[in-house]
Amino acid sequence: MIRVERSQTRSRRRIEPPSTWFDKARDQTADAIRDGSGHEVDAGVYAHDDLRAALEELFHHKCAYCEINISSGFNWDVEHFRPKGRVIERSEHPGYYWLAYEWTNLYPSCQHCNQARKDRKLFDDPTEGPTRGKKDQFPLADETTRAMDPDDDITSEKRLLLDPCGDQPEDHVAFGADGGAIAIADDSQAKASIHVYHLNRRRLKKDRRLRIQQTVEVLRVVDELRAAGHHAPAGRLLDTVRDQFATDASPLAGVVRSILHDPAAFGLLS
Ligand SMILES: [Zn+2]
Repeated sequence: MIRVERSQTRSRRRIEPPSTWFDKARDQTADAIRDGSGHEVDAGVYAHDDLRAALEELFHHKCAYCEINISSGFNWDVEHFRPKGRVIERSEHPGYYWLAYEWTNLYPSCQHCNQARKDRKLFDDPTEGPTRGKKDQFPLADETTRAMDPDDDITSEKRLLLDPCGDQPEDHVAFGADGGAIAIADDSQAKASIHVYHLNRRRLKKDRRLRIQQTVEVLRVVDELRAAGHHAPAGRLLDTVRDQFATDASPLAGVVRSILHDPAAFGLLS
């Protein structure tokens, strides 16, 4: 997971749905607040193609949580960060129905992060893993801070899930040489996020291991160039790794940034 700014622009145009979508969303939100917990959420609005196109662009065609590519032809979900219809941790909660059409509550998510999916066996790891994924979870560190209706302030909630647009995920989650996500200093938000988004499922760890292998191979060359006194080409190669592998649009950028932040953890000098 990496930080994603909602205020990004492309060619001086803000990356967000067109005003026609916001008009519909505003009308639906008014209906939702009037209907209360009985509101029937309209997926035709919150998952409209205009909205999906903007989310894809804003999040660089990657899942907001695990950073796998979502544009290669498989289905991805428009995910409600605060669940729209119910909250697993609070049985009497009707769901954050008043945020069902709120742009800042909508994220692009792969189905592995957003739905309950089994961590199926791999050819070289034939044990069944746990079934996990976010679904309607939204854990808080203090349940008394939970917003129960539109009049309550969601910013007062002591949420446990990391928000890619509201937090700096890289200050909370690092990665190990085995591709596993690790909570920095036992951070409670990182632990909850790794668990709820299922960020240590095996196929994802395997993808990260490949990315780590590719990055470490190049950074070893940087070390060798430096050791031989070739500091200028070493610097250029390191810049290339940053520019090509660690930008917001790079696949699994968070893993690469973790290596650059703590190269010693991956057996590197630089
Ligand atoms: Zn994902």
